[in-house]
Amino acid sequence: MKNKDCVFCKIINKKIPSYIIFEDKLVIAFLDIQPINNGHVLIIPKNHYALISDVDDTVAARMFNVAQKINAAIRKSNIKAEGLNFWLADGEAAFQTVFHAHLHCIPRFRDDGFKLLFPDGFHNPPTQEQLSSVATDIKKHL
Ligand SMILES: [Zn+2]
Repeated sequence: MKNKDCVFCKIINKKIPSYIIFEDKLVIAFLDIQPINNGHVLIIPKNHYALISDVDDTVAARMFNVAQKINAAIRKSNIKAEGLNFWLADGEAAFQTVFHAHLHCIPRFRDDGFKLLFPDGFHNPPTQEQLSSVATDIKKHL
């Protein structure tokens, strides 16, 4: 299942060039062409799904497993990586820009300039009651 207008489906189908570093029947991993740091890799399902919640369990697990292997490979490589982030933007509000589910594997090092900003209120954590209510709400939909 592919989407003819999707840039990632075009990479899967080799319609546009990419630097593929891993491929099997479920997933493909390639270098991000606009890396946050050198060695920034995207791991994607070979079928087109917009959101990670649409991806079946086997493929989602394979995405993470491949990300682990790439993480280990980067740590052994010459790429500067004091740490790595796995990042998955699911939905426009979460900064997803390509609507083919993808997991970022981003090499990190101190003072690399990539930052997280926390919202107002982050340092005022919710009450136990609020946490309990949120947990209950999520659990009833699992
Ligand atoms: Zn696609």
